[in-house]
Amino acid sequence: MTHLLNADLHCHSVVSDGTLTPEVLAQRAKANGVDLWSLTDHDEVGGQDRAIAAAQAAGLPYLTGAEISVTFAGATVHIVGLGFDHTDPALIEGLRQTRGGREQRAREMSDDLAQRAGIPGVYEGALKYVGNPELISRSHFARYLVEIGVCQETNEVFRKYITEGKPGFVPHRWATLRNAVGWITGAGGVAVIAHPGRYPFTANEEYALFSEFKALGGQGVEVVTGAHGPADYVKYADFCHEFDLVASRGSDFHSPDESHTDLGQLPDLPGRVTPVWSLLTDRVHG
Ligand code: AMP
Ligand code: MN
Ligand code: MN
Ligand code: MN
Repeated sequence: MTHLLNADLHCHSVVSDGTLTPEVLAQRAKANGVDLWSLTDHDEVGGQDRAIAAAQAAGLPYLTGAEISVTFAGATVHIVGLGFDHTDPALIEGLRQTRGGREQRAREMSDDLAQRAGIPGVYEGALKYVGNPELISRSHFARYLVEIGVCQETNEVFRKYITEGKPGFVPHRWATLRNAVGWITGAGGVAVIAHPGRYPFTANEEYALFSEFKALGGQGVEVVTGAHGPADYVKYADFCHEFDLVASRGSDFHSPDESHTDLGQLPDLPGRVTPVWSLLTDRVHG
């Protein structure tokens, strides 16, 4: 597989907090010129069989994927896993535990929105947008708050509510970095730090994240992603060299109405990095 593959190795379906089905995503990826795709739903691999079948029907090479929620240095970090065996029992059990606290957290978020912002019934409203209640997320809250006219768009919700310091934010303890990397590598996959440019870390905390990730067997980092700009591409390509990591590329597409980066519409990886797919040639479906 060449360096300049139009790989899109990060997106979400209705199985987690996206708005399109795995089948529609596969067709959209194909139509947008993607030539290696992965569906990376949050904390769940329940969409993988559908994605594999839909990619095959579309003639689209596919890698299994998931995005695991992790707590590190008091903040939430996302670790993408690629090319694993999605039937691996330890991975499936680890993901089940990781998403276990979401319903309780969502009820507390809803109580806080009622008490501090005077907006009642948000848990019940958000549930309408969820396939599996175990996977209720802030994205579903954001969609309901737009529906009832509290905000014009979901991005505005994340500026005014449900983020640190704002009404509706409830801190949560997700998986450990060690467990998330272990579940992915134990199932034969490659672990990748998702969108590092988005975390609220100091330089020291970020250094700790990368060094611990590497020591635990993590191998990759997203260099080109919807949340990054040109300065991030340079910074994280440098990190690839400093920490001996491969580079990934993914839009983090969730919805045609909400995502500013569509499937397959990303700049190429910088020429000086090794693409993550060079480690995964024998894991590609189709
Ligand atoms: P949760 O896992 O429930 O904490 O929800 C996190 C999800 O919310 C992310 O995966 C994104 O889809 C979405 N999200 C987080 N921050 C923002 C933001 N600033 N703007 C839009 N969506 C966001
Ligand atoms: Mn999401
Ligand atoms: Mn993420
Ligand atoms: Mn994502």
